[in-house]
Amino acid sequence: MFVAAVIACGVAVAALAWFASPGSILGERPATFGIFALLLFIGELRPVRWLRRREGGAFTASWTFACSLLLIAPPAGAILATALASFLADAINRRPVTKAAFNAGNLAISLGVGALVLSFAGNATLIASSTSLTRYVPVAVLALMALFVVNGALTSVVIALAQEIPVGPVVRHGVTLNISTDGMLLALSPIFVVVSERSLLLIPLLLLTAWAVYRSAELALERQHAALHDSLTDLPNRGAFNDHLEQALAEARRRGHRLAVVMLDLDGFKEVNDRLGHHVGDLVLREVAIRLNENLRATDIAGRLGGDEFAFMLSHADEEIGSEVVNRFREALTQPLMIENFPVRVDGSFGIALFPQHGDDVETLMSNADLAMYTAKQGHLGLQVYAPGRNVRSRGRLSLLGEIRNALEENHFELYYQPKVALRTGAIVGVEALVRWHHPVAGMIPPDEFMPLAEHTELMSPFTEYVLRAALFQCARWRDQGLIVPVAINGSARNLHDVRFPAAVRTALEESGVDGRLLELEITENTVMADPDRSAAVLHQLKELGLSVSIDDFGTGFSSLANLRDLPADRIKIDRSFVSGLGSSPGDARLVRSIIQLAGNLGLETVAEGVEDAETVAALIEMGNDVAQGYHLCRPLPAEKLETVLRAGHINVLPRPDAAEVLAAATANGALLAEVLG
Ligand code: C2E
Ligand code: CA
Ligand code: CA
Repeated sequence: MFVAAVIACGVAVAALAWFASPGSILGERPATFGIFALLLFIGELRPVRWLRRREGGAFTASWTFACSLLLIAPPAGAILATALASFLADAINRRPVTKAAFNAGNLAISLGVGALVLSFAGNATLIASSTSLTRYVPVAVLALMALFVVNGALTSVVIALAQEIPVGPVVRHGVTLNISTDGMLLALSPIFVVVSERSLLLIPLLLLTAWAVYRSAELALERQHAALHDSLTDLPNRGAFNDHLEQALAEARRRGHRLAVVMLDLDGFKEVNDRLGHHVGDLVLREVAIRLNENLRATDIAGRLGGDEFAFMLSHADEEIGSEVVNRFREALTQPLMIENFPVRVDGSFGIALFPQHGDDVETLMSNADLAMYTAKQGHLGLQVYAPGRNVRSRGRLSLLGEIRNALEENHFELYYQPKVALRTGAIVGVEALVRWHHPVAGMIPPDEFMPLAEHTELMSPFTEYVLRAALFQCARWRDQGLIVPVAINGSARNLHDVRFPAAVRTALEESGVDGRLLELEITENTVMADPDRSAAVLHQLKELGLSVSIDDFGTGFSSLANLRDLPADRIKIDRSFVSGLGSSPGDARLVRSIIQLAGNLGLETVAEGVEDAETVAALIEMGNDVAQGYHLCRPLPAEKLETVLRAGHINVLPRPDAAEVLAAATANGALLAEVLG
């Protein structure tokens, strides 16, 4: 209805002007009229774009000439020429007819308003010798401004209506934004008129000058744009996004509006990058940015914070609207991206924080949205709205990292130990150190809640060294009590890629006096396979210190057993997701069986993780797997509690173990170790 009204009004204005004009609609200077009309048409045809995408109506250089026409000819001439040029150019550029008609109608109305204001200068024109410029110029300036504002306003209204968002802010935004750039183009129009009055031959010279001015303004804008935008996706960068958010918050505070901040982190992007190359990764990011923009409204703003992290701000959005927009976007995101004719699929984890409930400044909102996103990612939830006080992490990932640092200094971490058991005999062949965090306020925090955080930070090295030292210290204590138990610690990607890590291990071994052969490093399959060459280098140095190496969580990654052949590994730990399904899932059983066989052929031992019942034990024994770990055998225990178990020497695995066999095995085990260690 609004579009139809604008078109109808435009026609009415044009007709009115036509009937009101006394003589020729071309005015006193038909040749000048013709030239301006031509330039106007060219300008419409090739709008020279300011670097602006979603920020409202596109003003073009043609405005200069439309206004020049208004200053030399009757309104009818200016209006008809401009509307016609715009309509034709739109048709040539294949815009939809309604859009072209709306643009033409909009121009007719705004030029009509300009002409109306101009009429307060009497019947004067800029070129009539009798005109008093002291009176004419202020009126002309007002006329151009009125025309400009009306045009911007009508364009903004149609955008706001189409996107069902409040009209006021969009209009204000659209108009003020254009005044500093496109408004300047209007100031040139009287100059063109005056110069053309002296001689039309001067017009090309003026065009050159105007072009130079225009270009330098454009360059300045480009540079400004580059400083504020990410060059890959052309979205605002982190700094610019924060500025936008700051402004929007100020506005929302003043007017009591709501606002949602959404954080997005792509899932599976790293794999795309690693497997298909950075080139494809870049294309994916670009495509994501495009889809993001397509699903946002004019007053919403998206930014790229870095890497595969994006943020967007939804004005006037509560939880419901925010979730709706996010779900729409998620749907668009998960459609396969065609990258060079190849379908690539990514998903994302989204976190939402709302103003004013979840914070009223940029920093708080951003960190709460980040936190919600992190929760979504951890739980594979897709989308999570921030919920205050859910747990310790509600203070933010950053503060949690700070607390890890503190906890290291203040010894709030404790190691629990879980035995690895030889199934046939029940002998304990080693223990795995598993960290526990006794948080002074939040209580016990399981490693799954903070390890993934720490893994991406510089904290990982001091953390692993802490665990390393504590585990070796414990190992030495046990040894002094006559309990010789190999200990395993868990390493992370950072350790494997840290060339100083082997030296740190050597020092820790020397300080504790523990033989390197009693230490084992568990590294997850994905960590090793991310960069097998670099990992192998560090692993080889560790092996020289006597360490043994386990590939942890085996089966969850994408590597083939063939990859393992080239790694200096001693054993693999079959992930508990397969082991726990042994009894119920024939697929899992087949998988475990073949892992055991192939590993055996490659000279690798296997350890089954997550053994939770006796049936699994029986199945594993039948498959030829000897060593296992799991709640059924023994839970992870604090060192003192485990001591009792260690002293017993073995664990009752099956209801009635063969006592003689157990004793023999336990003795053999201890004897072997004692012999190895001299
Ligand atoms: P992981 O290396 O796979 O450790 C085994 C996890 O499985 C432990 O969880 C253990 O308590 C649990 N578990 C053992 N038996 C069973 C069972 O029968 N059923 C089930 N459902 N679970 C069982 P936890 O202690 O929560 O550790 C989780 C993960 O955190 C570990 O997985 C490891 O990746 C990481 N982690 C723990 N401590 C450290 C550490 O000191 N350094 C590093 N880098 N990572 C650690
Ligand atoms: Ca482990
Ligand atoms: Ca594991």
